[in-house]
Amino acid sequence: MTYKKIKMANRKRIALVAHDGQKQSIVDWARYNKGILVEHEILATGTTGGLVEKVLGVPVRKLQSGPLGGDQQIGALIVEGKVDFLMFFWDPLQPQPHDPDVKALLRMAVVWNVPVACDRSTADFIISSPLMHGEYERLVPDYEAYAKRSLPVEVKAGGRKGKE
Ligand code: PGA
Repeated sequence: MTYKKIKMANRKRIALVAHDGQKQSIVDWARYNKGILVEHEILATGTTGGLVEKVLGVPVRKLQSGPLGGDQQIGALIVEGKVDFLMFFWDPLQPQPHDPDVKALLRMAVVWNVPVACDRSTADFIISSPLMHGEYERLVPDYEAYAKRSLPVEVKAGGRKGKE
């Protein structure tokens, strides 16, 4: 397997998502780590972002609310290489209407080797890592070969008569 390097700048892009049952937890976590978080760029699903913005007192990029597509927006930003960390406090005791989106977001984070914290203590360890300061090159598998794999599919030009 070959790898590509994605550079993380000094100022990291940290995505925050918390289910309703975990909102208090992420707010408390953000207050505890305010001094570090304000040095970085924060983006979040809508409701989480609004709460964290109040705690931090700095602008947070607020995407759509999670169940309305915010998780998918963060997933898309991960694919584009625009997210360095994901702090995703999902609720282990409450079923979510957007469970497929939750799984998809967690999956994208692993596909693109983005560090993920799903609880406060992991998030504390990540945010306190010496690697937070300075640049870091994140290794991502080179998916070029997968994208170019050959498939036994016959592709012909043309279409409906008069509709081309
Ligand atoms: P919210 O979304 O921050 O808009 O509540 C979080 C989620 O449920 O995914």
